[in-house]
Amino acid sequence: MDLFTGTRNQKLFYAIFSLIIAIYPVVMFSRSKPVIGYKTVTVVNCYGCDHREVRDFQKGDYIFKKLGACDACNSEQYISAVYSIPMSKVKEKEEEF
Ligand SMILES: [Zn+2]
Repeated sequence: MDLFTGTRNQKLFYAIFSLIIAIYPVVMFSRSKPVIGYKTVTVVNCYGCDHREVRDFQKGDYIFKKLGACDACNSEQYISAVYSIPMSKVKEKEEEF
């Protein structure tokens, strides 16, 4: 058994090593998507109707925080989610509305 010292094993090692060298830049490149930064947004929902609003995160926002009466139905509004989105995706989102 020449598991660790044999020349065959050495060739295999170099084969794997060169494969990693070849794949490494591809992996790195695919990961570095052009994300400028992250933006934190707050999702506001209404208990009474389907009203849903995504606005910029404001200091003091937290999930299930009550935000007062809804313009549409006068029921209470609350924060249903707070999350960060990449800046490059923000433009796509804003185009939807
Ligand atoms: Zn409402």
